[in-house]
Amino acid sequence: MSEFLNHTRAPDRRSAQSSMGRREFLGSALGAAVAAQTVRPGPARAASREQGSQTYTEHQDTPVVARHQVVVAGGGPSGVIAAVAAARSGADTLLIERYPFLGGNGTAGLMTCYNGFRNQRPPEALQTVKGIPAEYIAELVRLGGIADDDPYPKAKRDVAGSDLPYCIGYDPEAAKVASLNLIRREGVKLRLHSWVAAPMRDGSRVTGIIVESKSGRQAIAADVVIDATGDGDMAARAGAPFMSPAQQGDRMGMSLMYRLGGLPSSIEGNYGGIRIGDRVVKWGPGFGGDGVDVENLTRAEVESRLKLWGQVQEMKRKPGMESLYLMQSATGIGVRETRRILGEYTVTEQDAIKGTHFSDVVAISSNPMPSYHGKRFFFEHEGFEIPYRSLVPRKIEGLVLTGRCISCEQAPFQSARSMAPAMAIGHASGCAAAMSAKGQIPPRRLDVKALQKLLLSQNAELRI
Ligand SMILES: Cc1cc2nc3c(=O)[nH]c(=O)nc-3n(C[C@H](O)[C@H](O)[C@H](O)COP(=O)(O)OP(=O)(O)OC[C@H]3O[C@@H](n4cnc5c(N)ncnc54)[C@H](O)[C@@H]3O)c2cc1C
Repeated sequence: MSEFLNHTRAPDRRSAQSSMGRREFLGSALGAAVAAQTVRPGPARAASREQGSQTYTEHQDTPVVARHQVVVAGGGPSGVIAAVAAARSGADTLLIERYPFLGGNGTAGLMTCYNGFRNQRPPEALQTVKGIPAEYIAELVRLGGIADDDPYPKAKRDVAGSDLPYCIGYDPEAAKVASLNLIRREGVKLRLHSWVAAPMRDGSRVTGIIVESKSGRQAIAADVVIDATGDGDMAARAGAPFMSPAQQGDRMGMSLMYRLGGLPSSIEGNYGGIRIGDRVVKWGPGFGGDGVDVENLTRAEVESRLKLWGQVQEMKRKPGMESLYLMQSATGIGVRETRRILGEYTVTEQDAIKGTHFSDVVAISSNPMPSYHGKRFFFEHEGFEIPYRSLVPRKIEGLVLTGRCISCEQAPFQSARSMAPAMAIGHASGCAAAMSAKGQIPPRRLDVKALQKLLLSQNAELRI
């Protein structure tokens, strides 16, 4: 037992693929509960800040302030649905978000159109995203939060009747409330204003997370952590291998979304954006480079915000458009692509194009690949399958991936990163984490048939 009580020993170098038996997993979890007082970084893992060639070594004890069966790091579309799914599946669940509201790039990033509930073009008979994501849309409908128009051509469907079209434009304020309503109804605990700084670790096993907030640095123990940060922050910090766009020579850029107010009633249609009455959300200035490099992010924010102001002034100068004004810019520039964590299986470009079936399917993505060799690529099948193995990071235990950081090549990433498939993946990761925590079985060893059965009982579409 002492092995599990000592959080200060050097990291365990055991192979990532090494088997972790049920007993060991259980022992570790119990150990974390008993030792839940402080976490102290050992010499080999002391946190260091680099400045040039210098490092500054911090020595600190971090109080363990809570323990949960499942902790979801990141409250974007995927994380919210993951938290609801985990709680519905019987796990005591905590959702953590850095912003003071939920919704991720769908609210903070002002990207207010949930794409990918089915193909955009025929064949599009099958709604590939159902289950808890569809319940979430029903909540948006109930709140009156659906947009009037958006720029994505598609066949019309009955959104209010839960027959969901390719995409659904919405009001970001309603999305914040719908997310809160869903998690409150399910009994998910919530911590906002909390930056998830690092994983708690016991060798290669994640045993919780370290958060920074106005309350200071605190540790929260967990049986299973879901990395819903979009960027795979937890997995990368835990030492999971990942693909980054720079290594692949291809990257989807960032864009600052914004909302115009005062659109004259004489203007018909969507005005190139997502329209509700006289307000329209539009795609603003773009920026390149690394979306997990803070200096590049700072440049991106400064340059795109200054540029956007000028662009809106130009728009206002057009005859009849004097009433336009910049109502809101996104809380942060929208980052499309950063790390894709390597999992037990990596979904390939050919899997996406051919529509490979997997016996461990847990979600389906039918969203087009928006910039495949420079063009929007529509599938000739009704979506490719996401296998459970692509949610399980290599080398690291106690961690499940969700959203846009799952294990896939760049082409399938372009599709599955859209918010409807990201929510479907969240549904799967939440159910998996709950099963793992409740059964004290490492995520890598879950009974996938039982997971699929659970997902089907919660109305997910798995095409099986
Ligand atoms: C400009 C742009 C346009 C897009 N257009 C569309 C579109 O039209 N339709 C569509 O469906 N999709 C679109 N997308 C893609 C889509 O928005 C994202 O891929 C999707 O939101 C991914 O969901 P997620 O939950 O994985 O991550 P995110 O939405 O990024 O959510 C991650 C959450 O984790 C939080 N977080 C991150 N790191 C930490 C941390 N360390 N500690 C605490 N919290 C943290 C974030 O604040 C956020 O709330 C677009 C993306 C961009 C950038």
